[in-house]
Amino acid sequence: MRAELVAVGTELLLGQIVDTHSAFLSRELSQLGIDVYFHTSVGDNRDRLVAVVKRAVSRSDLVIFTGGLGPTEDDLTKETVAEVLGVPLVEHPPSVAVLERLFSDKGQTIPPSNYKQALVFEGGKVFPNPNGTAPGVAVSRNSVTCVLLPGPPTELYPMYHAEVRPFLKSIRDTEEVVVSNVLRFFGIGESHLTERIGKLIQDQTNPTIAPLAKEGEVTLRLTAKAGDLQQAQELMAPVKEEILQSVGRFVYGEDDDTLEKLVISALREQGKRLAVAESCTGGLLAQTLTSVPGSSAGFQGGVVCYANEVKTGMLGVPTELLETCGAVSMDSALALAEGVRSRLNTDFGLSVTGVAGPDPVEEKPVGLVYLGLSERGEVTRAYRLDLGGSREKIQIRAVKQALYTLLERLKKGVAAK
Ligand code: ATP
Repeated sequence: MRAELVAVGTELLLGQIVDTHSAFLSRELSQLGIDVYFHTSVGDNRDRLVAVVKRAVSRSDLVIFTGGLGPTEDDLTKETVAEVLGVPLVEHPPSVAVLERLFSDKGQTIPPSNYKQALVFEGGKVFPNPNGTAPGVAVSRNSVTCVLLPGPPTELYPMYHAEVRPFLKSIRDTEEVVVSNVLRFFGIGESHLTERIGKLIQDQTNPTIAPLAKEGEVTLRLTAKAGDLQQAQELMAPVKEEILQSVGRFVYGEDDDTLEKLVISALREQGKRLAVAESCTGGLLAQTLTSVPGSSAGFQGGVVCYANEVKTGMLGVPTELLETCGAVSMDSALALAEGVRSRLNTDFGLSVTGVAGPDPVEEKPVGLVYLGLSERGEVTRAYRLDLGGSREKIQIRAVKQALYTLLERLKKGVAAK
């Protein structure tokens, strides 16, 4: 089955919004074994929309439209598809009832223009919309199925999962499933990684292997097509095993894992608490940790110790140390990690101090960062990093490296038990 995705809306062409719906739907369709051949974006213009619909139904078996189902005059998707396919639109009483209820709940009468949202394709399919006024609709003509979905993400995503996905499963011409498994690497660059598993990448067929590098991390996405989930997993298993044998020591997680999620869950499992002292990352480490729901189970808090007075006043770093070694130094990182751990009375203290740029500090180069890791009852350690990139990239990479360093320590803690 060849699919085409058509995103409707002039905002897309003006660059005011990015077409994330097509990216989402492409990912979803690939999991259903439906091949997406084309993405098209078109503005709210009748003539150009007619041309797009005609071309799409002439070259695809499934066309999914998003947007343009609103009540205003420039919302034209349904009317245009109906016209091109020659399918009448008819009133759908349950959708009228939904409109009546939504407006009467707000003490309003239905504006006449909204009634057009309750029009559906004669003989077609209706996907109820509990989060808005426009139902999704679908119709099949001459072996082409057109599916029309509302633009707002809060309406589209729940409707897709509840209604559209089961519908697409019922009409697709394959029972194949497409299963992906993402391996997440840290501490190895993309080119080294792909070199180490070059033969596997070269010989890939099913599963396919797709590397992707992002902010100091690299992922490998294995994707297998098979008759069912188990077969897909069986196809992936030996390839995954070979990858792990070669570069497994750099793997920190899989699929939706992130460094921060794994750190928080390891802290929680081990009943340990963490405090952070941040200079050049200005709170990014604490922000990253607290972006994980339930982070309070392992994260105590942190100090943004940007100025030296904060390092000394709040975290007890000796003034002489800052004067002799500088704030960007191994000794400073050690003292910050110990200071924050003891002041916040936690099991771990993690510190970051460095030069994020654009200008050097204390005659130290941009990208020089020291991490400190203090653990109750253990020797405190510091680590030197030489990071590249913009100020923002250096900050992100320093945070990731700090999380990775702590994660490795937490793993050792488990291994030692
Ligand atoms: P409405 O009733 O809000 O008019 P609609 O079905 O006509 O709904 P649009 O007006 O086309 O949808 O889009 C509504 C909003 O949904 C857009 O302003 C945008 O925020 C989001 N949106 C629409 N299409 C896309 C897309 N392809 N990718 C990402 N966001 C989108």
